[in-house]
Amino acid sequence: MTTSAPIPPPGRRAWNFGPGPAYLPTEVLERLSADLLDYRGSGLGVAEISHRGPLFAPVVEALEERLRRLLALPSNYAVLWMHGGATPHFSLVPLNLARRHRRADYVVSGHWSERAHEEATRLIEEARIVARSSSSPTSVPPVSAWALDPDADYVYYTDNESVDGVEFPGTPRVERPLVADMTANFLSRPVEVPRHVLIFAGAQKNLGITGLGVVIVNCDALPEDLPGHPRPDVYAAHVAAGSMLNTPNTVAWYVASLMLEWIEKEGGLKALDERNRRKAERLYAVLDGSGGFYRNDVSPAYRSRMNVPFTLADPALLPLFFREAAAAGLHQLEGHRSRGGARASLYNAQPVEAVRDLCAFLDEFQRRHG
Ligand SMILES: *Cc1c(COP(=O)(O)O)cnc(C)c1O
Repeated sequence: MTTSAPIPPPGRRAWNFGPGPAYLPTEVLERLSADLLDYRGSGLGVAEISHRGPLFAPVVEALEERLRRLLALPSNYAVLWMHGGATPHFSLVPLNLARRHRRADYVVSGHWSERAHEEATRLIEEARIVARSSSSPTSVPPVSAWALDPDADYVYYTDNESVDGVEFPGTPRVERPLVADMTANFLSRPVEVPRHVLIFAGAQKNLGITGLGVVIVNCDALPEDLPGHPRPDVYAAHVAAGSMLNTPNTVAWYVASLMLEWIEKEGGLKALDERNRRKAERLYAVLDGSGGFYRNDVSPAYRSRMNVPFTLADPALLPLFFREAAAAGLHQLEGHRSRGGARASLYNAQPVEAVRDLCAFLDEFQRRHG
């Protein structure tokens, strides 16, 4: 294959645009590699030490402290680190929070909110869809058009739909307790936490590796128990146990603590927001400037800064596109299996240089095949 697209220089990691498990900062991986063998000079690997012991205690403390600082968490909010990524919370949220009226309002703006809503309909009296984007979403209906139920126990939304590339421009202005799935844009910008009763995220997109879910919850809203349900389903039980009802995923906790440290070092949420915007704008500019060779139809106000799906005018070029991209060191650009096309994920850790190289490749591929 002949191409003038940038080839990764020897020793450079491949650029990884996968939607999750996602790219991690090299310095985080280097630290993890060393600590797997010898954690801070203890002679023991970080995956092999007690989660309750003195060596691991600073990790537990740092996790809580740094996250509280980054998000300016009010003291009545608890942070839970739970097994299982994001999906368990599609069930645990209605079980724990739809207690008073057993009703909740759902905004369906794409793939993940659809899944969350489906699960809620199995578990509570009524999970109403108060607003729905089209089946190929390009925006979210404005808050003024949401048909809110005054008796709903919460209003649920997905801040960033990673399959569809649709992101809320900011916290919806609704005077109701909000629940947000922030899996795909967690810690990528400042968040108005007090407007939410609960925020959850799987860690594998912006906060490290798979198997871990983080929950930020207003403790005043939690039932102490859910009679007839397993204890691991009860958020309050995790609060009481300091997220250690059983052995936690210590390696995922450790990587999350390294990621929080990295985020603070990079300047915190405002600085990341700036950088994330610049990365996304650069890519959208290339797509929009391609005269229809590449397309993203999401309306500008709702375009995701994290996940940029796009199609090629000639879909028959896609296999060649992925092949040449990979040869140029640009990997995992395939769109979600339900959507096809291409998608570039640009989470916090995605370097500006990766986006620069992707943009150069897109231009160059179009020059040769447009
Ligand atoms: C990826 C994703 C999920 C699913 O995450 P799992 O950890 O695999 O359950 C849920 N919600 C959103 C918004 C996502 O992007």
